[in-house]
Amino acid sequence: MQNASILIVDDAPANLELLKALLESRHYKVITASSGAQALAAIKDSIPDLVVLDVMMPEMSGYEVCQAIRQDPKTMLLPVVMLSALDPDLEKVKGLEAGADDFLSKPIRQAELFAKINSLLRIANIHRESEKNLNLLETLTKYDPLTKSFSRTEILHQLSIEIDRSQRNKHYLSLMVMDIDYFKNINDQYGHQVGDEVLVSLVRHIHTTLRSTDSMGRIGGEEFLILLPETNIEGAIEIAERLRSDVAKATFKTSLSIPMQITMSIGLAMLNPHHHLNTAQDVLLSDLVNQADMSMYAAKQNGRNQIAA
Ligand code: GH3
Ligand code: MG
Ligand code: MG
Repeated sequence: MQNASILIVDDAPANLELLKALLESRHYKVITASSGAQALAAIKDSIPDLVVLDVMMPEMSGYEVCQAIRQDPKTMLLPVVMLSALDPDLEKVKGLEAGADDFLSKPIRQAELFAKINSLLRIANIHRESEKNLNLLETLTKYDPLTKSFSRTEILHQLSIEIDRSQRNKHYLSLMVMDIDYFKNINDQYGHQVGDEVLVSLVRHIHTTLRSTDSMGRIGGEEFLILLPETNIEGAIEIAERLRSDVAKATFKTSLSIPMQITMSIGLAMLNPHHHLNTAQDVLLSDLVNQADMSMYAAKQNGRNQIAA
């Protein structure tokens, strides 16, 4: 890894100078520290890509510095090479126990130094890449890629958490299923792309009207689930009715110059924490979603652009 930053820690100025010159000749960015305390302060200031750490130092030994690095979640995976001058075998055991990744014995052999640094930086890079992929995977499962609201998987997961909380803390939990009315017409008239843009605008709009404790997920093409924790059915009806009339009045921007208007049908359901104490959680979850869904269909049957509980 070109330009990687390497922190070298040694109490002997001559060793620091020598190592610094060596590493800089290979274009590494070098930071130096002449004690354990200085090293930890430098790492706190800015985490390097790798640490070359002398074992024998007064006050704080290399082992202690390494342990401190491993204990901090931010530097848990920071590669550490230990420099030992005494009995290499004995020091390796202690170094491994302290969390070192590799060892170099003094006097340092250049080829070995560079080979070890290269290999540790390569592994660190692989770690970083897989962490990035893991984060990406998490984002992909957690959020709906089009509207950026929660995905179906995530909102149902949150619902199971809320059911649990509701039963433990004995407060009501309401939920609503909302479906856009005649959405197919928008696609047919203006194209799928414009339909997508309406969905994005709608979600953005609804997010500004929800309380911070409420959450919203996309459970179908133009169908959303909203969780209203600590809300009884009367409160939920009020929220749903406000949302419905607010959306019906709003206009949604798309790439076309004509502002779009839509209406929604909303179905509600509530969990009473004093009932269903012996019902399994997954049964409760699907019952609740089904009830809200059935109410939503009732709202459709009654003429759309309305709520039903
Ligand atoms: P209603 O719900 O009022 O009964 O009528 P509708 O036309 O909204 O319902 P229907 O279930 O018949 O059709 C839903 C339409 O939503 C079909 C599909 O074209 C559209 N749709 C679903 N997901 C998406 C999407 O991601 N993007 C776009 N543009 N359209 C979608
Ligand atoms: Mg619809
Ligand atoms: Mg639908």
